Amino acid sequence: ERVFDSNSSREESRQEIFLRPKDFSEYIGQRKVVQNIEVMVESAKIRKQAMDHVLLSGPPGLGKTSLAMIIASALGSHLHVISGPAIEKKGDLAAILTNLEEGDVLFIDEIHRMNISVEEILYSAMEDYRLDILIGEGASARTMEISISPFTLIGATTRSGLLSSPLRDRFMAHLHFDFYEHSELAKIVENNSKKLSIGLEGEAKNHIARCSRGTPRIANRILRRVRDFAVVESKESICEEAVAKALDLMEIDEYGLDRMDRKVLEVIHDYYAGGPVGIEALCATLSEDRTTIEDVYEPFLLKEGFLIRTPRGREISEKAKKHLLSI
Ligand code: ADP
Repeated sequence: ERVFDSNSSREESRQEIFLRPKDFSEYIGQRKVVQNIEVMVESAKIRKQAMDHVLLSGPPGLGKTSLAMIIASALGSHLHVISGPAIEKKGDLAAILTNLEEGDVLFIDEIHRMNISVEEILYSAMEDYRLDILIGEGASARTMEISISPFTLIGATTRSGLLSSPLRDRFMAHLHFDFYEHSELAKIVENNSKKLSIGLEGEAKNHIARCSRGTPRIANRILRRVRDFAVVESKESICEEAVAKALDLMEIDEYGLDRMDRKVLEVIHDYYAGGPVGIEALCATLSEDRTTIEDVYEPFLLKEGFLIRTPRGREISEKAKKHLLSI
C-alpha cells in the first residue's frame, strides 16, 4: 500500500472534507502563514475590495486547500476550486474567469503544472481583471478585451521555484508551508478524534503524531485506520497498542517513513553504495517519476536528515544507514 498517494480515492476525499478545519480557530500551526493571511483578509474587508492574490507552496497534505476554504469563508466569498493540469484549453479557463462574481476566490491547485498557453490568460486577469482574447486568424485577427470581476487568485504549488516568473511575480504574497511539529499534529489528532466520536488513551495521539511525516493528511489517515480497528473490536477509545498495530499494517516505521521512503534510501544504499547519485539515475532505478520523488519524498527525508543533497547528487546519512540496518 502506498501511504502517500496524491490521487486519493473518492471515499477518502469525502472523509477528508469531514475532517477539514472550518475556520482559523480550528486551523492548527503554520503561524507565520496564518498571520499574513489574517491581515490580508482584514484589509480586503475594510477596503471592500478583492483580497490580493496569494501563492501557497509546500509539500502535499499540509493544509493549502483547507486554508483557501477558510479564506473564502472569512471573506464571505464563493470559492471555486480547479486543478492546474486539468485545464487543457484557454477557453476553459476564460469561461471560469468570466463567470466569477466580484470578490470570489479562485483556487488553482498544482498551478505550476498548468499549460503555458492557458497560464498566459492569467497575466492580464490577475493584473487588470481583464482577458485579452484573440479572435479570427491571419490578417483579420484582432484582440478583444473582456473585463472580469475583481477576484482573488490563490495558487497552490509543491515548489514555488517551478512557477514561471511572469506568473510568480503577479502574486502579492508568497507563503511557504513547513512540516508540522509533533505537538501540532497531536492537537489535530485530538480535535479530529472528537469529530469521529472516538476516545484516545495515554500516548496514542503522540504516537500517531510522531509517525505522521509532519503531515496532517497522514495523521488523519492513520487516525481513521486505528478508528476502524476500535469499531471492529467494539471499543470506544484508541489505545497505543492499536496504533502500533495499524502503523505496522500500513508499513509505517517509528520515524514515520513509509515503504517508498525506505525504498529510496535502500536503492541509494544497495545500488549506489550510499551515493552520491544523480536524481535522474535514482528515479530510473526506482521507476518513479522525478517530480514525485522531488516533491513528495525528498523534502521529508532531507528535513529529518536521512538524505543529504550534495553538488554531485543525493547521499544517505549515517542515520539512514543505521535505520536500514535496524529493519
Ligand atoms: P494540501 O492542499 O496542502 O494538499 P489539505 O488542505 O487538503 O492539504 O489538507 C489535508 C487534510 O489535512 C485536511 O483535510 C485537513 O483535515 C488536514 N489539515 C491540514 N492542515 C491542517 C491544519 N492546519 N489544522 C488542522 N487540520 C489540517
